[in-house]
Amino acid sequence: MEHIKLERTLVLLKPDAVDRGLVGEILHRFERVGLKMAGLKLVLAEKSHAEQHYTEDLAVRRGQHVRDMMIAMLTEGPVIALCLEGIDSVEIVRKMVGGTEPKSAVPGTIRGDYSHMSFKHSDEKKIGIYNLIHASSSASEAEQEIAVWFKEGELVDHTPTYTKKTIPV
Ligand code: ADP
Repeated sequence: MEHIKLERTLVLLKPDAVDRGLVGEILHRFERVGLKMAGLKLVLAEKSHAEQHYTEDLAVRRGQHVRDMMIAMLTEGPVIALCLEGIDSVEIVRKMVGGTEPKSAVPGTIRGDYSHMSFKHSDEKKIGIYNLIHASSSASEAEQEIAVWFKEGELVDHTPTYTKKTIPV
């Protein structure tokens, strides 16, 4: 039998999501699938904080200019930092978030339903892609990113009845 993976993941509702008043709608989607909130806060991030989130790894994958643009975008206004817990939560949340480019993100995903920008347009405008949300891409990235946004005592351990009934411990 495949091992049951109860894990935590880090989600950021980026400044464009807060600015557009989409926080409630997006949180609602995560609640609906039964993911549990372990941490939630509104943060106005400093540049040095954003640099810890968008690490050199992003520059290696997407280019230094993308990393610089994303650090600037993440500090444009407040972000919601959210730590979600559930079975295979990293994979589930990525599925719900959708592809990086809003134009090609599938309808039904958060990016596909609430954003539309193309890479072509952002390249022409020399701006980062406004795609509302960040979600950790692996369990190890989640662990590292949760530590960037939450201190140990800020995460809440609680077991809803629903979880007690569905997850053997
Ligand atoms: P994701 O957020 O889908 O995991 P990445 O980690 O590769 O994607 O990139 C981080 C963020 O950088 C993306 O969410 C997007 O906002 C922005 N971004 C990525 N690639 C580009 C690009 N080519 N042009 C502009 N912005 C980009």
